[in-house]
Amino acid sequence: MSFRRTSTAGLAAALVAVSVLGGTIASASAATDSNNGDFGESPADLAGPYWNAPDRATSNRASDPWPSATRVLDRLRAYGVKPILEAGYNDPVYESNAKLAGSGTTMQAVMMHDTGTSVPASRLKVTHSLPWILRGVKSSAGKTVRACHFYVDRVGGVHIVYLRRTWHAGSGDSMFGVPADRMNGYSMGIEIESQGGGVKDLTSSQISSASKVAAAALDAAGLPTSRAINHKDYAGRKQGKVDTAWSAGWWRTKIDAVRTGTSAATVTQPVAVKVSSNPRHVSLSATRPGTTNTYVRRYQKGLRTLGHKRHVKVKRANPHGATGYYGTETKRLTRAVLKDLTRKNRHWTRYWQKQSHTRPTTALIRRLNLIPIK
Ligand SMILES: [Zn+2]
Repeated sequence: MSFRRTSTAGLAAALVAVSVLGGTIASASAATDSNNGDFGESPADLAGPYWNAPDRATSNRASDPWPSATRVLDRLRAYGVKPILEAGYNDPVYESNAKLAGSGTTMQAVMMHDTGTSVPASRLKVTHSLPWILRGVKSSAGKTVRACHFYVDRVGGVHIVYLRRTWHAGSGDSMFGVPADRMNGYSMGIEIESQGGGVKDLTSSQISSASKVAAAALDAAGLPTSRAINHKDYAGRKQGKVDTAWSAGWWRTKIDAVRTGTSAATVTQPVAVKVSSNPRHVSLSATRPGTTNTYVRRYQKGLRTLGHKRHVKVKRANPHGATGYYGTETKRLTRAVLKDLTRKNRHWTRYWQKQSHTRPTTALIRRLNLIPIK
């Protein structure tokens, strides 16, 4: 587990540092007016006109339909993201400060933002806007509110800022059945460190990480990829927002590739395989990471059947099922099934010590009640 927690003391130090830099932030805020970025934005802009009016008060926290932090973090891990959990990322106080606690609202969208710092990309620090993001903004009651859910730094590091309802969208148009100006209570926001102003300066690691974060958030809320939008799609008309520099359709293609486990498939061409008509035949040479073919699909089905029989957490390892693509999910399922086979079984314990945990061998194919061929 490679989770890193920032200590409360560390956060306090960061807050002091930010206070010292107050002047810098104020001037950056003025500068962003020209590109209308999110960095240094005012609380009223982030909150929108409804910042003091919860949609619907309910005291029943147990039935809160908002995705749990555990669920979101599980999905991130499933996509291979090792997030940095910033202090307070799940502290209910910020949701309460944002006047959104107990609103009972259901997540309807994931919103892509860029920080829009107005600093040329070449001069952006790795976590340029993170101190501002973590400090958040003050509500009209003088209470701290976090300014987004996720933050992607310049090298693609994923920081978990806050996982409950908070401000990031401000006022905007009605969409997905959400009334105008209310998107804060119905969406999660991903801030990506960027110069802003419509400049396409995101690094490839940022694009990759942000797509994975969006996929994880959509998974956690049970939403289709069509619910990924840009800040500008919602708040372009009302606030003049231009983030992000890419279209929603462009992001959705990236996010879909993550969700269907095909994002790695672009680097490896599907191998043309002449498939045996015997449905139990599995070619070992064709069943390998990075390939897409019928043998892989047969192998995946076999793994899933045996996994279910042995109460392996199949859905966790392989949420997308037998897709025919040998990617991270197939490696993970292979490992999970093998791990289970080793329990109180000397033969499989020896196998575990000697063989790959992510690729099949003749012995594993046979154990799946399939017939290994070359
Ligand atoms: Zn934005």
